[in-house]
Amino acid sequence: MKTISIVVPMFNEESNLREFHKRVTTVMESLNYNYEICFVDDGSSDNSTTILQELSLEDSHVQGFILSRNYGHQIALTCGLDNVTGDAVITMDGDLQHPPEIIPELISKWEAGFDIVKTIRTSTDNISFFKKITSSTYYKLLNMISTVEITPGGSDFRLMSRQVVDAFKLYRERARFIRGMVNTLGFKVATVEFKADERFSGVSKFSLNKMLHFALDGITAFSNLPLRWAFYIGILMGLFSFAGLIHVFYVKYVLDAAVEGWATLTVSILFLGGIQLVGIGVLGEYIGRIFEEVKHRPLYLVARHIKK
Ligand code: UDP
Ligand code: MG
Repeated sequence: MKTISIVVPMFNEESNLREFHKRVTTVMESLNYNYEICFVDDGSSDNSTTILQELSLEDSHVQGFILSRNYGHQIALTCGLDNVTGDAVITMDGDLQHPPEIIPELISKWEAGFDIVKTIRTSTDNISFFKKITSSTYYKLLNMISTVEITPGGSDFRLMSRQVVDAFKLYRERARFIRGMVNTLGFKVATVEFKADERFSGVSKFSLNKMLHFALDGITAFSNLPLRWAFYIGILMGLFSFAGLIHVFYVKYVLDAAVEGWATLTVSILFLGGIQLVGIGVLGEYIGRIFEEVKHRPLYLVARHIKK
């Protein structure tokens, strides 16, 4: 019998864990597969770890990787993908926004020969207006400037075949935007639509700060365009300044008039200064990321592996 692994990153999800386990178990028991549910505890400070321990004692399908601290959703997912052994691996959130009830559909696509089964969120009724607007604008921008296509409404709810997971595991960059990375892998891809539910319990674990960081990771991981923009704007400004210089010479030597232009001067200094700072900022952002990557630190540390 084939084995399905389910990878679930969780960070302070004490109020969702049991319900999640119940709903996934109901679905998986109705199918004819071996399965394992692999929770990755991303440094929870509530009772999640204890509950996970209890679950693993009650149910031998459950195992847990307790990370040494909070590393973030994408790294927690990576830890799960690195450690499960199933013939197909499904990644999903632990707050039941990704309905376990569509797992059979994902599996049947895989059985039909697809290597990656992505999901797309169709309804966004349950998502705050702010998140809706920022997310759709962000994906538009990202698609405009990046080399891979990144679907709006995409999430990290997907199935990957063993072959794809093994391929994905070769990608070891630290700044990860997994939904974009998976799109660069190739293989046969199918898409399933689903309606995102409301969180079963608790609040979103993505602070604005985490979201911004994640958004920047997405842009810098798939596009060098911001670097080029700074370069283009620099060239353009250079040309303008040259024209300005000619004007200054003309006024001084041909018209022999006193140069009054303090306004022009101030404005151009400010403007150029601004452009330069933006350019340096963009450079800094990429250099910072290069620095992070070349350190080659481990992506995460596992403090404990829980399994009956
Ligand atoms: N999560 C995580 N580490 C984090 C933040 C979130 O493992 O630092 C988990 C979280 O427990 C949940 C999933 O990632 O299972 C998605 O997070 P959340 O539901 O808070 O994000 P949203 O649905 O609001 O985008
Ligand atoms: Mg959620």
